[in-house]
Amino acid sequence: MTKAGKTGPRENYLSWDDTFILMADLIAQRSKDPSTQTGAVVVDENNIILGLGYNGWPRGVDEGLFPWDREGGYEKEEFLNTKYAYVVHAELNAILNANKSVRGGKVYCHLFPCNDCAKVIIQAGIKELIYQEDKYIDVDIFQASRKLFEAAGVKLRQYTPTKKLKIE
Ligand SMILES: [Zn+2]
Repeated sequence: MTKAGKTGPRENYLSWDDTFILMADLIAQRSKDPSTQTGAVVVDENNIILGLGYNGWPRGVDEGLFPWDREGGYEKEEFLNTKYAYVVHAELNAILNANKSVRGGKVYCHLFPCNDCAKVIIQAGIKELIYQEDKYIDVDIFQASRKLFEAAGVKLRQYTPTKKLKIE
């Protein structure tokens, strides 16, 4: 019995964190990258969704035009034969796809963002980042993004699932 009547609220509902991380996982499945599918969701301070993104080629680029290869790194000729030269990351796409200003909002993402995405997240006025994994924590570009976020005062939080839910 509740003050309002016999039936109280349902208890096992999804938290906002669970909801947006699941949405990031869902939109990630749009990615054509054979090795890494990532997703990102931007929401405002009231948890209203502003934008979704996943890793892919810039809009209008033919799907078969560029390689999805990972090998080669950042050396000149090799670089042009890797996806790194062409791909737009999920976080950047989510911000670019937002239907209004993301200033003061939050980004939910799968992998901890690279330094390029960190610059965009900061410049766009995002105040909080919730990420699922930071498996590349020791790689230079991710160290740089962590430094940038800390210097700019963006709140960082690793997601801890409260529900055992997984989209396959
Ligand atoms: Zn990035």
